Amino acid sequence: MGTTVTDKPVKAAALSFVPELVYFEPAALDYPKGKQIYEWVQRQGIPFRMTTSHNRITNLPGETELEQYKIAKRTLVVGLRKTLKFDTSKPSAEYAIPIATGCMGHCHYCYLQTTLGAKPYIRVYVNMDDILHAAQGYIDERKPEITRFEAACTSDPVGLEPITGSLKDLIEFMAGQEYGRLRFVTKFHHVDSLLDVKHNGRTRIRFSVNSKYVIKHFEPSTSRFEDRIEAAGKVARAGYPLGFIIAPIIWHEGWQEGYAELIESLAKTLPPEAAGAGLTFELIQHRFTKTAKNVIEKRYPRTKLEMDIEKRKYKWGRWGQGKYVYPDEQANALRMFISERIFEHFPEAVIDYFT
Ligand code: SF4
Repeated sequence: MGTTVTDKPVKAAALSFVPELVYFEPAALDYPKGKQIYEWVQRQGIPFRMTTSHNRITNLPGETELEQYKIAKRTLVVGLRKTLKFDTSKPSAEYAIPIATGCMGHCHYCYLQTTLGAKPYIRVYVNMDDILHAAQGYIDERKPEITRFEAACTSDPVGLEPITGSLKDLIEFMAGQEYGRLRFVTKFHHVDSLLDVKHNGRTRIRFSVNSKYVIKHFEPSTSRFEDRIEAAGKVARAGYPLGFIIAPIIWHEGWQEGYAELIESLAKTLPPEAAGAGLTFELIQHRFTKTAKNVIEKRYPRTKLEMDIEKRKYKWGRWGQGKYVYPDEQANALRMFISERIFEHFPEAVIDYFT
């Protein structure tokens, strides 16, 4: 059980994620998913340790805070989800369904950097029956209204799917729910195990895409753009409702060419099954809080991410700390330009929102 965690540079994630260190809560091994992950860890020869709680991992290796952060992003913690009260998840869904917390991606702008605070390691939950039972309760409570669950609020579950298989469980569960819908968004392409799952059209898979500039400078350790698009084609061919989230939309030099090229290359590469009616787009402009700016500057000191509050508009937050967004004129220019490109290439698509 000796650990050999190294401080490797961050690079693109073509292969599926393999953690360098795994922690198990002992109770996790009483569940089939916990056992399955345990056996996989042993087969892979990954160092592992036992822990009393997935919320108290205090002895991570690493000399400096930054080193510990990088190592935490490659550390998997397998435990039980105890809080079964789901958070709300507007505007894309009614509730966030918790199957994982934390992500191996290194997107500079990611809000998990602040929301996860001192716990950036990746937690996966193996008590699926409890989670599904709670979801059933939320669906029953709102019936005959449809209840939508977002599975990617606190993680990127597609990147973890080869290890956990939890999305497959959720998709199968939702296939049997007349009043329930599942959705998740990803920057990863590991969808193969989902292609023959019975989904009944009740799960919408969305891929997060962006201009080449944004992907190159701000999204290390995620799947390449081409791989995400190929995966989008695969899920569309498997009959899943498909969507794209363009987020965060960033005002960068050459942004018009960058976003025009993005929409054009989506139109060129997507198979006809993906590009027709039912395709959705969600548009989210870049935003940050003062706390996020401080954290990002510490963790990615050489980032090119522009976070100059003088150039931004302050938007009051419902729960205290407000966010910095683009001034109206810039936000409108981004919204108009990108919406026009979308309707030009995908006349049947729906833009769910711009925020
Ligand atoms: S892939 Fe998503 S969840 Fe993961 S670091 Fe990037 S933005 Fe955050």
